[in-house]
Amino acid sequence: MTNAAYVCEQIKAAKAVCILCHTRPDGDTLGSAFALARVCRVLGTPARVLLADPPAARLSFLCCPDFLAAPGQPDELVISVDVASPAQLGSLCETWCDRVDLKIDHHATAVPFGRFCWVEPDAAATGELIYEIAREAGARDARTADLIYAAVCSDTGGFRYSNTTARSFGVAADLILWGANVADVAERLFDRQSVGECRAIGDVYANMRFACGGRLVSVLIPAERRAALGTTEEDYSNASALLRTVEGVELSVSIRQQSDQPTKYRVSMRSRDPIDCAALCARLGGGGHVRAAGATLTAPGPAQAEEQIIRLCAEVFHA
Ligand code: AMP
Ligand code: MN
Ligand code: MN
Repeated sequence: MTNAAYVCEQIKAAKAVCILCHTRPDGDTLGSAFALARVCRVLGTPARVLLADPPAARLSFLCCPDFLAAPGQPDELVISVDVASPAQLGSLCETWCDRVDLKIDHHATAVPFGRFCWVEPDAAATGELIYEIAREAGARDARTADLIYAAVCSDTGGFRYSNTTARSFGVAADLILWGANVADVAERLFDRQSVGECRAIGDVYANMRFACGGRLVSVLIPAERRAALGTTEEDYSNASALLRTVEGVELSVSIRQQSDQPTKYRVSMRSRDPIDCAALCARLGGGGHVRAAGATLTAPGPAQAEEQIIRLCAEVFHA
């Protein structure tokens, strides 16, 4: 039996399904979760989706309010999507990390949890696995197609990143046949910016710090500066990807101080071949993919956080 067939069997046999997303939900975890919830409905099982954090306004089109509002039920089948490790469940971890039945994911640094793990590091997005489940279940409608397309489009940067494969394009081709509106999804994901995000872009370019002869670039984003600019931490979610575009850069890092916990810093890395940011972030207790990864750091102040990260990253170039 394929993994997709197994998941469909489990969903059909369940009384209800509870789907868990990762913290700071991105297009892959949201698109995958709500597409899977629709698959459950097609298979005759009620489903709900749980989010530890509210989605960014830009991604709210991926959320289906009825699945968010659905009440919990006894004996739910619990499925996590795109969640690399129990810690990535955020505030959901306490209640749910020991109750996960099926873990569906594609992170290279995935930590096994749950009764049954389906992890394919070669899949560009968890959405590619959800596509197989939707196809198996016969849930081939336009809304489901849009959600899965958004998941794959998000994690491949619009089918441009090195994780993009023939499989990604094959999935996309099929989703178009199911009715996906590729122009609308791409426009919502990539061609809309809030005023705060625009201010954040200016802030990132104004505060680039180069090291290792320009091969490493970082940006430190203290909470105080965000307060002065009127930006939020989420407005900087694309900062490390923006900095990777700078000529000569091989590794880019953003370091965002948390507003509610000032000694905590959210680190986000992007790299060019052959630098492995998942390995770097794993050394900080985080993880991710070879070209895109993240972690959370504890430091007494912004300067110390920045020094620690630059020192760690610089090792890659001095090896
Ligand atoms: P980000 O820089 O936050 O966009 O994250 C880049 C990639 O790394 C995404 O696929 C995340 O899911 C993954 N990632 C970020 N933080 C962590 C972490 N602490 N543990 C595992 N994977 C992570
Ligand atoms: Mn994700
Ligand atoms: Mn993903």
